[in-house]
Amino acid sequence: KDTYQVVIVGGGTAGITVAAQLSRSDTPPEIAIIEPSEKHYYQPQWTLVGAGVFPREISERDTKDLIPPGVVWIKDRVVRFDPGNNNLITETGKTVGYHYLIVAAGIQLDWDKIPGLKESLGKNGVCSNYSYHTVNSTWESIRNFKGGNAIFTQPNTPIKCGGAPQKICYLAEHYFRKTGVRDKSTVTLALPQGVIFAVKKYANALVEVAKRKGIDVKYQHNLVELRSDKKEAIFKKVEIGESVTMKYDMIHVTPPMSAPDCVKNSPLASEIGWVDVNKDTLQHNRFDNIFGIGDCSSLPTSKTAAAIRKQAPVLVRNLLAKINGTPLMDSYDGYTACPVVTGYGSVILAEFDYKLNPRETFPFDQSQERYSMYALKAFILPRLYWHGMLKGRA
Ligand code: FAD
Repeated sequence: KDTYQVVIVGGGTAGITVAAQLSRSDTPPEIAIIEPSEKHYYQPQWTLVGAGVFPREISERDTKDLIPPGVVWIKDRVVRFDPGNNNLITETGKTVGYHYLIVAAGIQLDWDKIPGLKESLGKNGVCSNYSYHTVNSTWESIRNFKGGNAIFTQPNTPIKCGGAPQKICYLAEHYFRKTGVRDKSTVTLALPQGVIFAVKKYANALVEVAKRKGIDVKYQHNLVELRSDKKEAIFKKVEIGESVTMKYDMIHVTPPMSAPDCVKNSPLASEIGWVDVNKDTLQHNRFDNIFGIGDCSSLPTSKTAAAIRKQAPVLVRNLLAKINGTPLMDSYDGYTACPVVTGYGSVILAEFDYKLNPRETFPFDQSQERYSMYALKAFILPRLYWHGMLKGRA
């Protein structure tokens, strides 16, 4: 078997960022990344791709061009963790050993948890921004919408980018106005929770946005089935359990999500399946040579790339301290950010921490809709991602 000083599972946002930062450190360890995909995606762009602003190809790069120099890429998938022996087992049957392990395997999309969804995706107005393969169906559905009922859903599970299900709703509504079909339509945003956003300051602003746009926000509605032959969406009311059937002409579905199965079924898992890490240090709660980061981790914050930007340097400094036998001094405060796109050309930039307190970067009230924040999301952040964050600089 091959053994490396540091092995990173997953070469997505978190995996590449951490690899890049570690390899830029004064004493870079020997690093291998296990990542099965030849393509890497900047997923935040899919919101604007789904709204027809950009072609999906701008969100895609070759993984081989992002692996930092000197880092070994093992093009394979981890299927089993064996932390007692510091080993990983891959899909092709290889055993990979490590001294230190970083788990950055992302979140799993559970399309099949909603009966009727998988087979109807991409057809007859059923669409989703949540994967590269389905994102074009969103723009197709929005563009071809001739009036009727447009529904936007959010599942009753943790998801990546908690704001994304409503961003596409605001954009679609704006598009329907531009093309003159808004008068013939109802636009429904079905949310599983009882509030529109977890942070009060932004929730207050977003409730007003939805009101102004005439969007019917249905709280505590969880999509449980899709009957595409009849164009019906079945919801269960959270807590009450009552079924509600809604007719749709287009429906944007955010699928249920959970920790990757290989993590869920491993000794690394928390009670509900995430990589069970200390929320301050990112070190595993039971295996002290293992760290977890990003969407697959148990960190109790909103799962975003912006959060990973703040998690990565903490993990890297703590891992290097561990390797050097010194105490872990660095701490993550739960910082996360969500640019809530409220239309073509406007964004509310939500930034907050574990305590759900706003943690705003700019010297103005970020709960107001602004073009400048839209420009940041659409044009500046993608550049910072490819040229800063993934290079270990930002
Ligand atoms: P990923 O980047 O998903 O990477 C996980 C990697 O692990 C993948 O490459 C995968 O192939 C690999 N992997 C999986 N299983 C295994 C295995 N068994 N073995 C080896 N490798 C494995 N974030 C923001 O900050 N702002 C936004 O505006 C925003 N908008 C979003 C909009 C949409 C529509 C979506 C889908 C996401 C959005 N996000 C946003 C969230 C952001 O993209 C994610 O939080 C971030 O990419 C998570 O990074 P990660 O490294 O944890 O997971």
